[in-house]
Amino acid sequence: MNWNSSVSGLWKAGPRTAKSLKKFGIGSIRDLVYYFPFRYEDYSQIVPIAGLQEGQAVTVRGKIELLAAKRSFRRRMVVVEALLSDQSGSVRVVWFNQPYVTKLLEAGDEVFVSGVPRRDMLGFQFASPQYEKIKPDFSPTHTARLVPIYHLTAGVTEKQIRGLIKQALGFFPSVPEWLPEEISAPLSLFTHLEALQHVHFPTDQKTLAESLRRLKFEELFLLQLRAELARMAKVSLRAPEISFQEAAIKEFVAELPFALTKAQKVAAWEILQAIQKKAPMNRLLSGDVGSGKTVVAAMALYNAALNGFQGILMVPTEILATQHYASLCKLLGSKGVRIAVYTRSQRKLFNSRSGEVSETEYSKAQLLKFFATGETDLVIGTHALLTEGVEFKQLGLVIVDEQHRFGVAQRRVIKEKGERVHFLSMTATPIPRSLALLIYGDLDISIINELPVGRKKILSRLVEPAKRERAYEFIRAQIKQGRQAFVVCPLIEGAADAGLGTVDKKSVLNEYAKLSEKIFPDLRVSYLHGKLKPDDKEAVMRDFAKGQIDILVSTSVVEVGVDIPNASVMMIEGAERFGLAQLHQFRGRVGRSVHQSYCLLFTDSDSATAKERLVFFETHQDGFQLAEKDLEIRGPGEVYGTTQSGLMELRLAKLTDRELIRQAKEAATNVAPLIKKYPLLLKKVKEWEGRVHLE
Ligand code: ADP
Ligand code: MG
Repeated sequence: MNWNSSVSGLWKAGPRTAKSLKKFGIGSIRDLVYYFPFRYEDYSQIVPIAGLQEGQAVTVRGKIELLAAKRSFRRRMVVVEALLSDQSGSVRVVWFNQPYVTKLLEAGDEVFVSGVPRRDMLGFQFASPQYEKIKPDFSPTHTARLVPIYHLTAGVTEKQIRGLIKQALGFFPSVPEWLPEEISAPLSLFTHLEALQHVHFPTDQKTLAESLRRLKFEELFLLQLRAELARMAKVSLRAPEISFQEAAIKEFVAELPFALTKAQKVAAWEILQAIQKKAPMNRLLSGDVGSGKTVVAAMALYNAALNGFQGILMVPTEILATQHYASLCKLLGSKGVRIAVYTRSQRKLFNSRSGEVSETEYSKAQLLKFFATGETDLVIGTHALLTEGVEFKQLGLVIVDEQHRFGVAQRRVIKEKGERVHFLSMTATPIPRSLALLIYGDLDISIINELPVGRKKILSRLVEPAKRERAYEFIRAQIKQGRQAFVVCPLIEGAADAGLGTVDKKSVLNEYAKLSEKIFPDLRVSYLHGKLKPDDKEAVMRDFAKGQIDILVSTSVVEVGVDIPNASVMMIEGAERFGLAQLHQFRGRVGRSVHQSYCLLFTDSDSATAKERLVFFETHQDGFQLAEKDLEIRGPGEVYGTTQSGLMELRLAKLTDRELIRQAKEAATNVAPLIKKYPLLLKKVKEWEGRVHLE
């Protein structure tokens, strides 16, 4: 038996148990040992029976005097009753629905019983407590200690998994210690093996805390060491030096119809400085919805064009490509910049070079040729740009908008394409700087943490189902005033359309039918979802932008970046189905101009946690706070995307472990240049990277 052996080789783990374990990813002995408890029951306090107190989790050690099973007719179950005594007194114990207890214990046995005693007229009683027979040379597993509790699915019991893990731990007495002494000694960290043992079976709270500290440190240290190594590897890479055309940029800023916020100016300045350098910029631009990232991107792209370099602005959806293309043409239209849009359905070139403005449609081949011969300055496109055969003459800057919306494979290609150019990734997922440093350790970060002045607060309400009619009246009134509304649904089609007989109302098609036929037959209602043909999607979005549609029923495709300043109502159906950060994105679709805007949430869910989440959303406008709440509820993977960052590997460490993060960072920075001196550590990083990249 070794780390890689199957769990089915363990004593008492047959094929059935192995199959159940497989369901939560446990196949080998190693998997088992790295399946950590999610909490502990503290039964470490052993008290004399006479000293029992109501409601306190404790263990008693005693001898079984009587043991008998009875069928309880009232409760329709088997009840095992026992009397347990020690020198100080005796206590009653009952087990409900566990007839097998009579096979495992008998009168005369010495046992530990752990649980919370209750007092009734006859004195104290333990109901269905944990129990363990005391044998010579025995250390308790389920009682009389800090007892680990694991997340389980059907087919395996806590008792079983504890027993299996205890056996498994016996199979690797020597785990090589890969953390250099120079790091572990000053921080007095446990060895890896000590930590593994104590995380499952801690002798007390202190060893538990210490083992968690070591394991968390490992995760944080490896994450940051990897980032540090990546950063070092990049130092030798070269990107074009794009010099800062200060006068032209100042003029551009002066001509904008608004004044840039301070945060926008700082971010733009940081970016323009960074792309002057030989080392490729690798930067994250994080700013809440509506904070004005596009104009910052436009400045960088314009600056590149002024230097004769080409730029790419890559977006996750056709809709967004269309919109960015329109706004960049507007922003840069008088600047002699040649702007292309390249998606599956749109291939156009906007040219104002010769002083005259022209917009021409081209074939795919023609446009590709223009990229390759340098006859475009910047191109806005979807991942169609990533397909093979797209070549550029003088690529200098790649910007990715809403990068979290790209798939893993796509992100990898983008990253590779971006190796020898400057790279900027924009996200509206608000992320505090300290956390960003950890997650995107090898990226530099610019944060736009303020909204343009004059933005009105968006009023958000969780609307009771009974008040739905009034919400519709409200929408009608808004439209009468000239505004427009979004209705977001979690699904495209309801179950009825899929022929399942039951009607799931909260789908785009069902809601569209209802709103257009019954509720607002006199208004212009349309719909949008990801499965429509790109041309149709574009047409709908264009009509909505032109004000030719009053109400747009849509799936989450409108989440991303769409800008319709005249829209003032965002109504969200099935709101419990969306994460807080995503709801915040929806809400960010309105309130983009002077009109007071509203976000109306609907849910049919009775769940208290769903309600709590939505109420939190209703009362919080700040994207950072929402992101933190989301983090708390759904974990970092869901909120920030795990795959590229290796956040998945943070199984124990929390983003709030600030001090440990700092210590791990310091250790990683110190050790990275000396990594060759530590072959075991290097091996560990590689092994870990291998796992991360396999996702
Ligand atoms: P996001 O950061 O969500 O991508 P956008 O770049 O789409 O935000 O900007 C949202 C809206 O705010 C756009 O209509 C844009 O023209 C406008 N805008 C950007 N910066 C400012 C500013 N400093 N003052 C006023 N309006 C601005
Ligand atoms: Mg945007």
